[in-house]
Amino acid sequence: MTPLATLDTPRPVLVIGGLDPTTGAGITADCAAVVSLGAHPLAVLTASTAQNTHAVTNSWPVTATQLREQIMTLLAEWQPAAIKIGLIPNSETASCLVDIFASANTLPPLVVDPVCVSSSGSVLSTASKDDWMQLLQLSTVCTPNHREALHLSGADTISAAIARLSEVAQAVLLTGTDSSSGDCITHHLYRNTVSGSQSHEFVVQRQVGHYHGSGCALASAIATHLALGLELESAISTALADVERWMALAFLPSTSSQQKILRHQ
Ligand code: PLP
Repeated sequence: MTPLATLDTPRPVLVIGGLDPTTGAGITADCAAVVSLGAHPLAVLTASTAQNTHAVTNSWPVTATQLREQIMTLLAEWQPAAIKIGLIPNSETASCLVDIFASANTLPPLVVDPVCVSSSGSVLSTASKDDWMQLLQLSTVCTPNHREALHLSGADTISAAIARLSEVAQAVLLTGTDSSSGDCITHHLYRNTVSGSQSHEFVVQRQVGHYHGSGCALASAIATHLALGLELESAISTALADVERWMALAFLPSTSSQQKILRHQ
């Protein structure tokens, strides 16, 4: 099927991930981010969760059959201009995604946010290192924080982790939120190009407080800017400015809430 592309047709961005009923993270937050940046979200569910800003109390993965049918039905009509993958609950769903995207004729920019553990400490994925590595191999950029980079690579140090992840992924954006202290946070982009490997630093102001879903928002904003035609480094710096704006507008849902919810405006 040929997509109808006119000047006012919004670019479709496919987000694949879990449902966080707070819309702090997960696919409803991804959709809010994509819409606020002027693109059209397509959303595919990998798992439902029960959570609030204190804890994830339960989660229920979809089956590989359900996941495949959601994606194949969409792809029969739509051509996503970028794809963002977030929560992958287990090996079954990871293999299904690898199988679908490895056999695609063309793949748009693919952003993988390797969500393993929530900021409230709950394990969100039982997918193995091998599962993640196979997916990273297909990615344009992956966005691990320090803890995720160590977990995915099995390395003992962050430099060894980056070396291993860079062998697999075209680009690694190592986010610094969980490692930097002080007023600034430094995110590092490591990328393999035809002229060799390059690295680039992005320094942002640390915002006071605890936020739910900031990593998720960053990855969906990067995917949206890639869909809108920006090159990777500009997509990342523009997305960091978006997240800064959404964090500045964040709110606490109740007086006892542990984390602020971003407002995607
Ligand atoms: N729940 C879902 C469905 C998510 O996708 C994520 C992260 O992307 C989380 C929870 C955890 O978010 P956070 O690490 O900000 O707590």
